Amino acid sequence: MSMSDYHGRRRRALPIRDVLSPHRWALWTQRLRLIAYAIAVEAVALATTVIVAPRVPVSHSEVALLGALAAMGVLQAELGRQVERVRRRVNGTPHINLTSVWTFAGVLMLPAPLVAALVAVLYWHLAVRSWYRLRRVPAFRTVLNASVVVLTCYSAKLVLAVAGLHGVRDALDGGWRGAGIVALTVVTYFVAGAVLILPALNTTSLSVKALLGGWVDNMLEGATLCLGVLTALALATQPALALAVIPPLLLLHRGVLVKQLEIAATTDEKTGLFNTSGWHHLAGQELAKADVTSSTIGVLMIDLDHFKRINDTHGHLAGDAVLKAVAAAITEAVRTSDCVGRFGGEEFVVLLPRVGRADVERIAERVRGAISALEVAIEEHEGAASTITGLSASIGAALYPEAGTVLDRVVRAADTALYEAKRGGRNRVVLA
Ligand code: GH3
Ligand code: MG
Ligand code: MG
Repeated sequence: MSMSDYHGRRRRALPIRDVLSPHRWALWTQRLRLIAYAIAVEAVALATTVIVAPRVPVSHSEVALLGALAAMGVLQAELGRQVERVRRRVNGTPHINLTSVWTFAGVLMLPAPLVAALVAVLYWHLAVRSWYRLRRVPAFRTVLNASVVVLTCYSAKLVLAVAGLHGVRDALDGGWRGAGIVALTVVTYFVAGAVLILPALNTTSLSVKALLGGWVDNMLEGATLCLGVLTALALATQPALALAVIPPLLLLHRGVLVKQLEIAATTDEKTGLFNTSGWHHLAGQELAKADVTSSTIGVLMIDLDHFKRINDTHGHLAGDAVLKAVAAAITEAVRTSDCVGRFGGEEFVVLLPRVGRADVERIAERVRGAISALEVAIEEHEGAASTITGLSASIGAALYPEAGTVLDRVVRAADTALYEAKRGGRNRVVLA
């Protein structure tokens, strides 16, 4: 989920004043749907807790368990901060949250109100220690996420209640049936968590991928819940052994870095497009596919005209803002299945699979038009707002396999066409 909608000004202190003044809440700057969903989820979580709490007996040993789970959760989050820092440096993806180890163990061991208390403690700690400092996550996100987790826990607890199990102890006594119900509780937690968080995500597209989440994310959540089961089993039999869950958990956290580094290695940080190596990798795959289906592929090389002037006139930061806007405009002007990359500087490249000669020219013209129509809001020196317009780009286009039977040849042909476009007076498309 994107946190870019929040621009905190103070670097160190928590914005306690902002949190205490409802009219300043970042929540109100969100889309209406999100505001409504946040309020609904928080209200339901709060109401359920208030209704259930007086009806559920809580023992001293359960309060002690709550303390133990909260302490381990805090310890793990503290030890994991190092990894989060690396992740943040590598790229800006959201915080990886392994809290479900403790909250799921809580589902298996604690009465509902104490599970809610556990979620509150762990999320408060994460918000203060990790999210705010490292990623500047606004407070409403924390409250919304915590409420979603509370409801997720309650859904899982409902499965246990319906099955007549009071927790992991009953499951231990319940043989295969007990194990089956714990498995069902894991599945319920997983599904309820995924479904309840959906409306809170900043995605507008409801693709299957967005719905199901990334494969790696799901694996991580699954592994975390499994460790939650083991934690509960350890706590129910020999509590001190529950600490044995922390090292594998930290390793799991570290394992996420592999995927992060993979993404970082193929992504252009400034624009979020593919970088040269990422683009070549994907383009290679598309060429192989095109050979099988005997289809043609278009390649566009796009270079902004007189970009140096923008840097010279408005400064480098404004130049960067233009690059980001151009990247977005190009992405918008082509299909989602097309592969847009940045080859460095102000040079972009687009791969257009299953596209013929007439289409390439039409698409290139559309991209050129989109760039010309851009109005980029920038901040001049001393913070004055201003807009950059009148951008233009020269585009060279070539087709595979017409212009060459290997990728490099086609790219070079498009590059030569681009040079022609520049020489012909810029702001135009030349097809090789
Ligand atoms: P032409 O129409 O011939 O392409 O002129 P141009 O000024 O666009 O071409 P040139 O290649 O001479 O200049 C490219 C400029 O892009 C030079 C460099 O300062 C700037 N540039 C390269 N990378 C970045 C970047 O990441 N951010 C910013 N702001 N500027 C960049
Ligand atoms: Mg240029
Ligand atoms: Mg250039």
